[in-house]
Amino acid sequence: MNQSDVLATLAQKEYVGRSFDLLTNIEKESGKKLTASVITFGCQMNARDSEKLAGILAASGFELLEDSEDADFVLYNTCTVRDNANQKLYGHLGEALSRKKKNPGMMIGICGCLPQEPSALEKIKKSYSFVDLIFGTHNLYAFPEYLNRLLSGERHICEITDHADNIVEDLPIIRKYSFKSGVNIMFGCNNFCTYCIVPHVRGRERSRESGDILDEIRALAENGVKEVMLLGQNVNSYGNGIDGEISFPELLKRVCDIDGIERVRFMTSHPKDLSEDLIQTIKSDEKICRHLHLPLQSGSTRVLKEMNRRYTKEQYLDLALRIKDEIPDIALTTDIMVGFPGETAADVDDTIDVIKKVEYDNAFTFIYSKRMGTPAASREDQVPEALVKENFDRVLKCVQESAKKQSLRWQGMVLPALVEETNSSLEGYVTGRLSNNMIVHFPGTPDMIGSIVSVKLEECRGFYYMGSV
Ligand code: SF4
Repeated sequence: MNQSDVLATLAQKEYVGRSFDLLTNIEKESGKKLTASVITFGCQMNARDSEKLAGILAASGFELLEDSEDADFVLYNTCTVRDNANQKLYGHLGEALSRKKKNPGMMIGICGCLPQEPSALEKIKKSYSFVDLIFGTHNLYAFPEYLNRLLSGERHICEITDHADNIVEDLPIIRKYSFKSGVNIMFGCNNFCTYCIVPHVRGRERSRESGDILDEIRALAENGVKEVMLLGQNVNSYGNGIDGEISFPELLKRVCDIDGIERVRFMTSHPKDLSEDLIQTIKSDEKICRHLHLPLQSGSTRVLKEMNRRYTKEQYLDLALRIKDEIPDIALTTDIMVGFPGETAADVDDTIDVIKKVEYDNAFTFIYSKRMGTPAASREDQVPEALVKENFDRVLKCVQESAKKQSLRWQGMVLPALVEETNSSLEGYVTGRLSNNMIVHFPGTPDMIGSIVSVKLEECRGFYYMGSV
């Protein structure tokens, strides 16, 4: 951390202490314990941010409720990557208003990606004026300060900036799982894919210093964490912009060297700059999970160029097949977008061709969503809905066939699974995750949670297995 980051961290920690005193007084006067909850939408980055927000709320004295919108302070950590994420939040806000009418002291906050989008911010201010606190992705670290102002009685706080001043470390955090954790290694994105809102709402790429990352992971390991997921919009460009910083493969190696860390995952690796060094690093260390998410988006070189993805169909195929060749037990997953402006049935045939050749273990297939402010949104050749639907169904069918075939690869094998939870629908069963990210259900007891056990994969049921220890 540089000097400015250190000072910002100290200031925010002080706000946490002040909020604790304010909250104690409020609770004395009202005669009740105040509750808070963080409702999370979107990606792994948001899930990680929510752990930080929850940590700050708990350290400030709130009793945390999990996934409940009946709390005295409800904070929505939002996503805006697709329009339906925005619509989902508006639905929740409608219901929040009814709750606020019954509990007038209730406070409502919105943070994350959505308020970084100017049109969405305007809509919230205009149509949901009962929201008490709004802040964005760049100033999440200042949440202790905003919370303090809220508890001091201030309302309609709106703090949005278009750049990040600080990377604040060491604020309180509540981790959802005791045995696994996400770890941000970088923030933002420089790639400007023409359909994507992320660089606009998360800002330019900023890497954390490797020393800070490794210290955080050592502390996690000392507290019983066995699996870490290194998070960044494109981990391959980790370290760019920091003089003398190590590369992402080197960072992976150093994380693997930490005592107590048994599994390392990462997300996301952009196909344009996934290096041979990274492939060899994954291959050489069994601690690095046998799962790689390699977003394709489209199999058509023309569409890829218009998306500004910076690889061709051939380059992607060469990379994906090389990875499978080098690491045969790796599970490859991907993202596929259907309906990018100007996409033809022939372009979709190219996408299907890639799916058939790569044989993905799974794919997240979604329909292009117009995001205001991105170059693709202003194009006039938006694809008619009926054609998008038809193409989407074709892609989905192919993805499902591939995933079904790939799932069967593991039948009968005995593989280590990290036990994550008890199974809520099968009594006496627990649920574990394999290195390749597949889920397996097997007979077990709650005391197994957090341990890695060898499980025989007995019966493949589509995308998951039934097994036994
Ligand atoms: S790499 Fe492209 S799709 Fe991914 S976050 Fe950056 S701009 Fe968006």
